[in-house]
Order: sequence, then C-alpha cells, then structure tokens
Amino acid sequence: MTKLSAIGGFLLLLIPGISCGSQPLHKNISEESLVIKEIVQPVSVEIAQYYDSRKAVVIFTADDWCGKEAYHQAFINACEAARKNGVVVSPGILPRGLCKLNYPGLENNQWKDIQAQINKGLVCPASHSMSHRGKKYSYNEHGTSYEIEIGGSKKSIIDNLTLPLQNQFNSSEYMVAWIEPYGKSDAKILSTLAKNNYLVSRSTVLNQYRWAKWNNIYGLYHSDLTIDIASRNSLALLDSKFDNAYSRGLVYHVNIHPGKYDWVNDDKAVKHLGYIGNRKDVWYAGFGHAYMYHYLEDKVKPLIQTIKNAEQEIIVKISVPETERKKYGLSYPITYKVSIPSNWQGVHVYSQDGSDNDYMPMTEKTSSDFFNGIDAYRKNSTQNEVFISKGFPQTSNYFHLKLEKAGF
Ligand SMILES: [Zn+2]
Repeated sequence: MTKLSAIGGFLLLLIPGISCGSQPLHKNISEESLVIKEIVQPVSVEIAQYYDSRKAVVIFTADDWCGKEAYHQAFINACEAARKNGVVVSPGILPRGLCKLNYPGLENNQWKDIQAQINKGLVCPASHSMSHRGKKYSYNEHGTSYEIEIGGSKKSIIDNLTLPLQNQFNSSEYMVAWIEPYGKSDAKILSTLAKNNYLVSRSTVLNQYRWAKWNNIYGLYHSDLTIDIASRNSLALLDSKFDNAYSRGLVYHVNIHPGKYDWVNDDKAVKHLGYIGNRKDVWYAGFGHAYMYHYLEDKVKPLIQTIKNAEQEIIVKISVPETERKKYGLSYPITYKVSIPSNWQGVHVYSQDGSDNDYMPMTEKTSSDFFNGIDAYRKNSTQNEVFISKGFPQTSNYFHLKLEKAGF
C-alpha cells in the first residue's frame, strides 16, 4: 500500500519496496519512483445553494403550449411579459397538442415562433408530454404509449428546437424538466421519466416553497408549485406568496395556463411579473436549469481540488463525472463561494476549460448588476470571499479557476 506522509511542507510518497532510511535505494529503482510534491493547503470552496448566492429563487412555468392558435398567441404574450421583467419562463410544450382539443399539434410555423422566443432569451422549454393524457384518454391508447408521451415528447422538442446553450453538452441537447399532464403521476410514469433522463417532474400541488424532494425509488426530483396565476387568485394574494418566499430566502414557483388566461381584460399576470421581476438579489431560472443546478449541488457534488494555494495566486480544479453529463447535460453555471486571504485587497478571476485551453479572464459583476445564468464572478467585499459562477465546459468535464491577488 502506498503511504502519504507530510514532512516540513513537502509531501512524501512512500512506495512499497523503497527504503527512505539510511540504506541506499535499490539501484533498479529510478528516481522518478520517489515522488515529492509540495503540500497544498486546501482552499475553502463551497457550492452556493442558489446561483450567485442570491437571496431567493423564482421559477415560472406555463402549461399547455399546443397547436391551438389562441393558446399559441397567449404563450407568446407570456414569454414577452416575463422577458420584460427578467423572469425566465419554462413553457410546458405539447408537440401533438391537447388530445381533448382534437390534437391540434404544433405546426412548423409555430415551432419557428417558439424558436424565436428561445432566441430572444429567457425561455427554457419543458415537456408537458406528447398529447396530454391521463384523464379521459390514457397513456397507452389511440396511437400513443408511455414511451411516446414521455421519451417521444422530449425527442420531438429537441428535434424541433435549438435549446439554450445551458441545455447543450458536446453537440447534444438535454432537456430535463417534465410538467405532469393534469398534475398526475404514477409508478409507470415516474419510471419512464427516469429511464428517459428527466431530472424533475412537477405536479399541481400548491404551497411548495422549497427545493423539491428527491424520490429515491425512481431517482428524480418530484416538485410541487407555490401558486398558479389563475382567475381565482388575486394580485394581492400572488404578491404576498412571493413576499413570503423572498423574505424567507426560499423558492417561489409560480405557474400559469396562458391559453386559459384573459390577456385582454386581466392585467394581474403582467402586474405580478412586474412585482416579482428585475430584482438583483433574486435568481431567475428555467425550471430545468434550476434543477440541473440543484442536482449538482445536492447530489452530484462536483469534485473540488486545490491545485495551488500561494500568497498571490489560488488555483482550483472542478470536475464532474462524464456519466452525469451524458444523462442530464448539466451545463448551467454553478456558483462556488471561494474564500480569499484577508490581505488581498482585490481579486481577478480567470477560468480554463479542460487543460488544453488558455486561462481567460472572467466577467466581473457587482450586486448592482442584473444578471442570471452566465459565467461571472462577484466579490463579497465584507466577507473576503468571491462568488464564482461557471458552467461545465461543452467539451470537457472539468475546468480550472485561477484567482489572482489584484495588483500582482
Ligand atoms: Zn396541462
């Protein structure tokens, strides 16, 4: 067995068969067998619970984007209203439409409109199944099956759309969020979701303010909602639900059915988005992106290794298993809270994707900037720490962060 021992700031690797005492080393053993490496004191690096160590989270889902023209226009309204307020909308897409509306599936020009919304930003699609089964029509009759509804809808969304960069890894696209038709799931649905690499499934149960619980049996998160922007709920009630989440530092997950909402006569949705949006201390995330983040922080726990911890420079390597990325993509930026020495007046941060690329300076942001889901760093001047948000690279499963003492 190889033994490690620390002597005077150096790491000595003792390899069996090698004597390090007064006896000379066996002449067959080359010098390379004896590895001496400087000890690196680990740097304190923690993964923040929320992106950029924000105070609270807003997730905004929208059910039933099907081919019905009135619904289609209503969804475009919802996307525009959310974007105006910096809120990310996660539309639940139904490629073959709502079966109870005689299958008005999405047509080519409608897919193009969805794509245009994604390209404008702050739209993160989710699957709401292929044709919304589960009440009058089951998952396995009239030309469909569990696999078509669950795996097929995911494939259709990926095939018809170019998803945001955070849904991509190594030239493949990943979409991990499922919105349950009628808010219902069962063992067959959940096992088919897991088989198709969904990471989170959402019911219509209300008043959830926290991250969803992990379902150990199937291996995915099972999420509820906080509230629905429905006609029965007043603007004051909606705003108070958000206030509750915000003041307690929790997750506010609000939903809407844009197709059923009266965009002409009811201004509640627009006003509520105005109330909850554009806040610099809130993290606005797509439903799938939020759970990619949470899964990494809660379950995967990326490996963080200190490579260098010197007076003027700190280097850490962060890596994640390839198998996890091949299942879920996991390219959404994660925030690392890194402690810096108290005598550093300032810090510059650089990142290197893999090991073959150069170190590139990262973008610096402050708490007075509005930003979400990008690679950036922000100094917390009062605590001698820096919040570094960085996504795993598109072509490798690790990266390096280099922190340099400012002025050095
Ligand atoms: Zn629905």
